[in-house]
Amino acid sequence: MILPINGPATGPDPQTSADLDAAAILARRLVIRDDGRCAACGVSGDQATMNAFHRPRSQRTPDMTNFAAWLLLCGSSTEGCLMQVIEEPRWARTTGLTLAAHKDPTSVGVWHAFHGLVFLDADGGLYPRVGQVRRGCDER
Ligand SMILES: [Zn+2]
Repeated sequence: MILPINGPATGPDPQTSADLDAAAILARRLVIRDDGRCAACGVSGDQATMNAFHRPRSQRTPDMTNFAAWLLLCGSSTEGCLMQVIEEPRWARTTGLTLAAHKDPTSVGVWHAFHGLVFLDADGGLYPRVGQVRRGCDER
């Protein structure tokens, strides 16, 4: 499932706004988590069309409330990273941009262009993969 992202992450807080539907809440949370950048190439939403991309493939009913299952990708089915993910499934699976439908999205790390190698949590957060050195920790 692919949802177009319309506009920047401005407006009401998605946590408290009752007038936003699930797709709008999802889009806002992804833009906030990922700084509005494509997970594959890091381009900003100011420079390219962004879509919310559902990582588990072949899942009929995407869970709009599990944010670990979703990434921002630039482009469309005919251009950009969205096209690359569709046309290069092996690469997409290796980088964690996609995963098998039966896998838990919180348990599969993703090589994210903006965050590095991270795990995503269902609530819209993320954390570094175990063993990954956090920037600044070795400067003490
Ligand atoms: Zn991209």
